[in-house]
Amino acid sequence: MQDDYDAIVIGSGLGGLTAGALFAHAGHRVLVLEQNQSFGGAATTYHRGAMTIEASLHETTDPRRTADPKGEIFQALDLYQDIEFVPVGDFYEVRCPLIGAPLTIPHGLASLRDRLIERFPDETDSIHRFLKHVRSIQSALQFFIEKHDGLWWLAHGAELPFRLWPVLRDMRSSVSTVLQRYFGDNEAIKFALAPNLLYYSDDPDQMWWLFYAVAQGGFFHGGGSYIKGGSQVLSNQLVDRIRVEGGEALAEQTVSEILLGDRGEVSGVKYRPRWGGDEKTSHASVVFANASPHALENMLPPAERDRFMAPYRDKPLSISLFSISLGLIKRPSELGIYAYSTHLIPKWMEQLRDFKHCAEILADKPSGRLPMLAVVDYSRIDTGLIDGELFPVSIVGVDRLTNWEGLSDGDYQAKKGAWLDAVIDRLDEEWPGFADAVVQKDMATARTMRDYLNTPDGVLYGFAPNVPQRSLLSGPPTTPKTSIQGLWLASAYAGAGGFSGAMGSGGAAAKAALRECR
Ligand SMILES: Cc1cc2nc3c(=O)[nH]c(=O)nc-3n(C[C@H](O)[C@H](O)[C@H](O)COP(=O)(O)OP(=O)(O)OC[C@H]3O[C@@H](n4cnc5c(N)ncnc54)[C@H](O)[C@@H]3O)c2cc1C
Repeated sequence: MQDDYDAIVIGSGLGGLTAGALFAHAGHRVLVLEQNQSFGGAATTYHRGAMTIEASLHETTDPRRTADPKGEIFQALDLYQDIEFVPVGDFYEVRCPLIGAPLTIPHGLASLRDRLIERFPDETDSIHRFLKHVRSIQSALQFFIEKHDGLWWLAHGAELPFRLWPVLRDMRSSVSTVLQRYFGDNEAIKFALAPNLLYYSDDPDQMWWLFYAVAQGGFFHGGGSYIKGGSQVLSNQLVDRIRVEGGEALAEQTVSEILLGDRGEVSGVKYRPRWGGDEKTSHASVVFANASPHALENMLPPAERDRFMAPYRDKPLSISLFSISLGLIKRPSELGIYAYSTHLIPKWMEQLRDFKHCAEILADKPSGRLPMLAVVDYSRIDTGLIDGELFPVSIVGVDRLTNWEGLSDGDYQAKKGAWLDAVIDRLDEEWPGFADAVVQKDMATARTMRDYLNTPDGVLYGFAPNVPQRSLLSGPPTTPKTSIQGLWLASAYAGAGGFSGAMGSGGAAAKAALRECR
């Protein structure tokens, strides 16, 4: 049978678009099928009146400033000419009763060290040792990411055990274990170092230390950046790269079936317009799956499902977030918000591990206790989002689908409204006058994420970045390969979540498929 395309991509999140763009760049004809009206999955923006609302991105790393899987992809696709990374300035401000006065965490390891020592002088020695440990893991990673020839390895091979030791030593450690090792029961400094844990996980007892050291260490080192114009700019540029090479990207097309050939290899997909219409079939010998494995399971023939799901079924899923988007008539700095990113730790959180109780608070209507909140003031830097008279502010917190499942539409809207108001009241306590400045408000929950992205339980970061229980293979999957020949995962589920993780997974999927095509 004649293939219609060289590859089909199911879903247009960053992982899928990256795989599609790299495959197209290598000279192949690619078809992207996306169920939603716009491309990008979570990496999208939308409009409310004159306001452009960012659906996801608070910050990501600029690959030119720190080791990052996006770097190779940006270079290969020549994306630097169209994507501008705007530095967010200080990494974050943390407001936490245990710490005392608000603490601003700068980027750059030396500045971070000085700031921490200034606030926690009794921990001077531990701060030095802790940051040295983070740096050594970063440099071990660099050692492996950089391409070296045989001669280089001959000259540097003997360093390998020393370079690897910090990694090997903590191969099975959690974030809690390592923070406890350096700082004992000083929970204040733990909150200073990880108030933004919710972008990765809500359980420091389970979260893999090496993941934290690489991801958070990258931000400590190079700082955070926003993509000027919003995450949609990046998604659109990736779609352009596919179209320029003769590929197609179709919105509002839901894939319902993955077709297999006689030898069990992938041969195409069936899809239909989201709002009704005739089913279509397109053929290709490569399919990049940006949809979650749980969504793919139902697209496969029943006889293939168990084998396909075997590597994924028992892996714990990552977290979901609720996301509140506000439009203010006043610049947040006039109300006393001085950082791009502020983390508000509530009084009831007395230990870092209390993070794991944040999501359950939203199971009921608000009754005084609030979860930890991350607040982003997009007008603090030149985000390119301010095109009207309103100043956009985003607030996120950990959420679970169980908080919203089973409610009637009326009850769901009422509960959402109550939480929206409770969060605004909390921000008004912190920054008096805040509530009066809000003229537009919107809240997305784990249920919104499930419905929009078609992810199990509305999770946003693929599998949980937990400590591998038995061996490295028992941790989150690190390969795009599936049990079906020609079907590659290209999403947060094939490695790590977040912008860097999803793009890195898409890059790995494209590389693997290209190798197999040769
Ligand atoms: C509120 C919020 C804040 C965040 N903040 C940050 C941050 O500051 N920094 C950061 O790095 N990351 C952040 N993230 C996480 C990051 O956005 C995600 O981890 C990443 O974008 C996931 O990409 P993905 O490729 O796995 O796919 P997804 O974005 O999950 O996209 C999957 C796509 O597949 C499509 N799809 C599913 N099923 C089908 C089907 N049957 N047919 C057709 N299409 C289908 C979906 O519609 C969707 O477009 C945030 C996310 C959210 C929601």
